[in-house]
Amino acid sequence: MKKPYLAVSLLFFSSVGFAVNAQQHVHGQGELLVSQEGSMLHLQLVLPAADALGFEHEPETTEQLSSQNLLAERFTLNTNVIDVEGKCELVGVEHTLEAHDDHNKSDHEDAHEAHSGDHDEAHESEHALHKEHDEHDEHEGHEEEKHQNIEVEYQFHCDDAVSGITVTLFESMPSLSAIQAQWITERGQGLSELSAGQPTLRW
Ligand SMILES: [Zn+2]
Repeated sequence: MKKPYLAVSLLFFSSVGFAVNAQQHVHGQGELLVSQEGSMLHLQLVLPAADALGFEHEPETTEQLSSQNLLAERFTLNTNVIDVEGKCELVGVEHTLEAHDDHNKSDHEDAHEAHSGDHDEAHESEHALHKEHDEHDEHEGHEEEKHQNIEVEYQFHCDDAVSGITVTLFESMPSLSAIQAQWITERGQGLSELSAGQPTLRW
């Protein structure tokens, strides 16, 4: 009854999600997928990092690191990101801007301590090994070095029917000129282009 239906539409949603992710990365253009299933509202937002952050690489300066952490916090709290019309509670957030803690703290430190004493020679070679290791670990998954998207996903639980959302991040991301929005609910589906002048999506 309800469960099989949910399973089917979630499958449908993930295939659409895949299609969204497979689209071209165009600066100034974001994508939003909205799916409503009973009392659950799922939002998936994809933004070029160039517009969301101003750079498309790992943070290199303290300033870049702090703007990335700030944005991560904004996404986590949904502060000026997306307003949902209705009695909705944010029950889940996922985004690709993980806070960067100190990766440099590695096994090497532990190894160092464990070997403090009279194992100087063994320690030196271990040191070299670990050093080499450290330099590789951080750069996995960087095949696309030139461009980067940021993805945010929200799950809302809503007490009453939702018939629209407003994207409230245009003001803080002036280079973001449009978001292609796609919505799927039990009533149907549609496409709409959102912008600073037209930030509200209704269905
Ligand atoms: Zn780019």
